[in-house]
Amino acid sequence: LSEKLQNVFKNLRSKGRLTEADVKAALKEVKMALLEADVNFKVVKQFVKSVQERAIGADVMNGLNPGQMVIKIVNEEMIKMMGSETTELKLRPGQATTIIMMVGLQGAGKTTTTAKLAGKFKLKGKKPLLVACDVYRPAAIQQLQVNGEKQGVEVFTMGDGHKPVNIAKAAVEHAAKNGNNVVILDTAGRLHVDEDMMDELIEIKENVDVAQTVLVVDAMTGQDAVNVASTFDEKIGIDGVILTKLDGDTRGGAALSIRAVTGKPILYAGMGEKLSDLEQFYPERMASRILGMGDVLTLIEKAQAEMDDEKAAEMEKRFRKAEFTFNDYLDSMSQMKKMGGFANVLSMMPGIGGAQMKQIEDAMDEKKMARIEAIIYSMTPAERGDPNLINPSRKRRIAAGAGVDISEVNRLVKQFEQARKMMKQMPGMMGKGKRGGKFG
Ligand code: GDP
Ligand code: MG
Repeated sequence: LSEKLQNVFKNLRSKGRLTEADVKAALKEVKMALLEADVNFKVVKQFVKSVQERAIGADVMNGLNPGQMVIKIVNEEMIKMMGSETTELKLRPGQATTIIMMVGLQGAGKTTTTAKLAGKFKLKGKKPLLVACDVYRPAAIQQLQVNGEKQGVEVFTMGDGHKPVNIAKAAVEHAAKNGNNVVILDTAGRLHVDEDMMDELIEIKENVDVAQTVLVVDAMTGQDAVNVASTFDEKIGIDGVILTKLDGDTRGGAALSIRAVTGKPILYAGMGEKLSDLEQFYPERMASRILGMGDVLTLIEKAQAEMDDEKAAEMEKRFRKAEFTFNDYLDSMSQMKKMGGFANVLSMMPGIGGAQMKQIEDAMDEKKMARIEAIIYSMTPAERGDPNLINPSRKRRIAAGAGVDISEVNRLVKQFEQARKMMKQMPGMMGKGKRGGKFG
């Protein structure tokens, strides 16, 4: 796909301005390239439509030419299509045991991935138990045992003389006695989706408390992988997908379409045969890989950073002049959330000590942030713009509106004044180039 797209954009790049005709012509090529990469037809249509809607009439950012601007939009829409954020495989909280059932066609990589996952969980301090439920494939049990041993995790087997559902039940009992808090069931696959396989999986699901059903699919099978995902989701219900053999897949069609078609996230990517070759799935990285345009993407990032810097500089000016208002406060709070929390941002800034840090961390915990937001939303625009307006009777009204005690409003206004003072005293912390100090 990447080579194809590169050519499309080369043509675009040589032109001056993006007209509607340009965008449409380029997207026709993008469409072809995606179809050739084995991306699902409906997904392609939707994708092209959303890029087109955004691209026509979009302002071309400073530092980018029109072609690069289209790439920026294609890239962003690709990331969106893959779910934007990295999704973690959800474990039950605390000491509760999480049962994970691995499903998929034969040869997809279930057994290998089971052992790979066990390694990840072990690193997280869990005590996994691998369960050999594939009683059909010759040597399947031994394969799991060998891999389990390599990872230093226990493997539960009962040979091939039992029904998978009974093996699963026995394994769960064993886990309870043995203190295993993650149980991974390695099930059998067939060459094609078939009723017996589905029935067997449903039977297991009905008899043990499976928390996560994880589908393993081979990325190299392209659109077939997507069809397999749809079928498994319809028949037994899946919680997420692991895409294997991405190391051998140059097209990216499966990665692009699975989320869009099934609505289920890609959790991990298999990147090789070694047991360490399992990576968290990052939509952003996948998109740049598919586009194969590292250099252009870096340029786009730079242009973006410059724009952010401009905004930050503007915000800094306002801080200094103590024009910082509750509107800015809301703004920076949503920015914080995006950046992984206030504390994280502040820890990157010079001159913030432990005591202040603790205070700030405390103030910024999520529940408190929600209450703060409620309070600010209960202020009138005038009050948000000029905190000095907020007299006692206004405070009472705001407290009632937000459903909080008046003391909380008092505290917020006071904290706000303090923050304003603190901002004013910190020299140049939001200046150009100091990305860590970016506030809004
Ligand atoms: P299962 O039938 O679903 O249990 O599949 P296996 O775990 O037995 O894997 C089938 C083959 O695919 C094995 O030869 C694995 O080494 C290989 N395999 C699994 N995952 C990956 C991967 O991410 N990359 C590559 N290159 N090979 C893989
Ligand atoms: Mg297997």
